[in-house]
Formats: sequence, C-alpha cells, structure tokens
Amino acid sequence: MANLQDLPLRDDLKGKEPYGAPQLSVPVSLNVNENTHRIPEEVAIDVIGRLAAAVLDINRYPDREFLALRQALADYLNAEVHTGSPLTTNNLWAANGSNEVLQHIFQAFGGPGRSAMGFDPTYSMYPLLAKGMGTDYISAPRGERYELTPDLIRQQVLKHKPNIVLLCSPNNPTGTPLSLACIEAAYQAVTEATGGVVVVDEAYAEFGSETSVSALALLENRERLMVSRTMSKAFAFAGARVGYLAADAAVVDALRLVRLPYHLSAFTQAAAEAALAHSKLMLSTVADISLQRDRIVDSLRDMGLDPFRSDANFVLFGGLADSEQVFEALLERGVLIRNVGIPGTLRVTAGTESETTALLHALREVLGR
Ligand SMILES: *Cc1c(COP(=O)(O)O)cnc(C)c1O
Repeated sequence: MANLQDLPLRDDLKGKEPYGAPQLSVPVSLNVNENTHRIPEEVAIDVIGRLAAAVLDINRYPDREFLALRQALADYLNAEVHTGSPLTTNNLWAANGSNEVLQHIFQAFGGPGRSAMGFDPTYSMYPLLAKGMGTDYISAPRGERYELTPDLIRQQVLKHKPNIVLLCSPNNPTGTPLSLACIEAAYQAVTEATGGVVVVDEAYAEFGSETSVSALALLENRERLMVSRTMSKAFAFAGARVGYLAADAAVVDALRLVRLPYHLSAFTQAAAEAALAHSKLMLSTVADISLQRDRIVDSLRDMGLDPFRSDANFVLFGGLADSEQVFEALLERGVLIRNVGIPGTLRVTAGTESETTALLHALREVLGR
C-alpha cells in the first residue's frame, strides 16, 4: 500500500486531516449532537412500507428533481413561518445531509479566487468544505462569550470582502443564538462589499426558544440569502442523510448546475417523505431534549462550571483545568462527549433523561463535586 505522500495529491490538500469525530461503541454517546431517541415505531413502519414500494422500481433512476420531497419540505417550513409568500418547490433544495447542500453552495458560489468567511469557533466543516473547492477560508472573531453583533459582522464583512458569509444559527460548537438583525447586517454588508451570498446554517433551529426566529422570515426580497436545515438533528434522522435549503428559485437553479444527476436515491427520497408525513410525531422529543439541555446548564453551574448560552441540543462549557483529562475520565465511565479543541472547555449533547442523569453523575464523580 502506498502512503498519501506517494500520491499526486492536490497541493492544497497536502497535510489536511479529514473530518473525524470518534465513532465509539459506548453506553452513553453524546458527542455529535444527534437526537439520541429512536424514531417512533409508527413512523418506522411507514418508512419501511415506502422503502418496500420504492424497491419495486429500483431498476429505474429516481426522480432527479425529487419534487414530492421538495413539496413535503416546503409544507413543513410553511407550517412554521407565516411571514412573506409561502415557499414552493422552486424555493427548496435537498441533498445527502446539509453538508452536501453546503458543498453545492461552495461549488456554485465559491471556487479559486473566491473566499468564504465564518465566525470562529464555528462548524468545523466550513473550512474543510471551502478547501475542497479551492475557496479561501477567512476566520473572523466572535465577541465576548462567543456572541455576535450586527456591528461586529458588518465591520468584518466590509474588511475582508468575502464572497460567501457563513452564519451558523444557533452556532455549533458554542450554542450561541443569532438575531435576525445580525443576518440583515451580514446581507447588507456583503451586498455593499462583493454582492456575495449569505448562508444561514440552521441545523439546530427546532431546538430554539420561543423568542428565536428563523432566517426564513428574511428570504423575501433577498435573493442571495440561503437558509440550510437538516433532518439529522431534531428529526432524529441522521442515518438517512437528508439536508435541505430554502432560498430564491434562482439559487436553486444555480445548485442544479453542480449536483450529480440523481444525487438523492429513491430510498432516501421515500424515507424522508415518510418522516415528513409524521413531522409532529418525529419532533415530539424536542421539548424534552430542550428540558435536558437546560437541566445540564443548571447542573454544570451547580458544579461551579461555566456553561455558555445555548439554543441548540448541546452545551459548551468552560471552567475545566484539563479538558482532555475530563474527556478521558468520562469515556472510562462509558460517557462519550466532545473536545472541540477550545482550551478548558468540552461540548456535550443533551440526550434522553436517563443519559443526562448518567452524564451528570459521571461528571460529578470525575470532578469530585
Ligand atoms: C450537524 C450539523 C449539520 C448537519 O449535517 P448533515 O450533513 O445534515 O448531517 C450542519 N451544520 C451544522 C452546524 C451541524 O452541526
């Protein structure tokens, strides 16, 4: 077998590491922000029925435009947002996870000679996706306790003139919610600076508090604004790989230029349509997960730790002398969480009530508190 160094790899990929959150078999796995609840049996049965129907036609390519799925996604979002004109299939796009949606965006709007800007610490895939398309990644700072303000965003966008602005709302790995004023400021500034695009990554939108409003409300008359979502988190459908995007119909036309033909398999489409037909039931665990998140925040404070404000299904917390040692000690007790590389901090996903109890028990034991 050859080594990577023996291959004529692209220069800009040399020395890079692939995405690699550990996949370990442990009793309590709270490291990649999945919904740790199984999907309801009623939905599972519907999924199986539709997969069975799909297999009968599996000799044929699937619907390349996945129109039934786009309609189901439009219906789902329209039930949530009542401002502006309702979204139609022309406003919806989907791919194998929102990571592939983001990749399509980089393929269509990034590339050599162009740049994308994120506010770090943010989702670790942004620089990797940028790199994969030969797009420069600009790392902009966040304010106090990882918060963003319209002024900070405007100043950074005007300074660096990116072609793509990436706003993660709420932000992974910090949990920080983002106001609509921040998104409006980013759009206004990038319009002045380059005429580039703004991508709001709302992977965790369903876990937001009642005061948090989706950027979907801003889509009307902003043809370079895109809102990406995923079925991997609140929807408990990570294994199916379905992410999607809402934007102006022209954006969807642009993404169609770069997708591979038939990129969403007949099985993926059938499974996602089944899940969306039961969206209320699929989201029935969200309230409890948010409760467990708040319980984690309160308990961490009781332990003298420093949790950051989170509107997602995870909590980043500081106040650790040696985060890697705490990570390892939890793992020895069967609890896997995440060291995202911010000194003195760890990130943990809010799971079921009993997983949360196990996590808090193990953490108290490790810290002796
Ligand atoms: C988990 C996550 C995603 C979702 O990825 P999928 O490819 O849809 O599974 C997207 N963005 C952020 C910030 C995430 O944390």
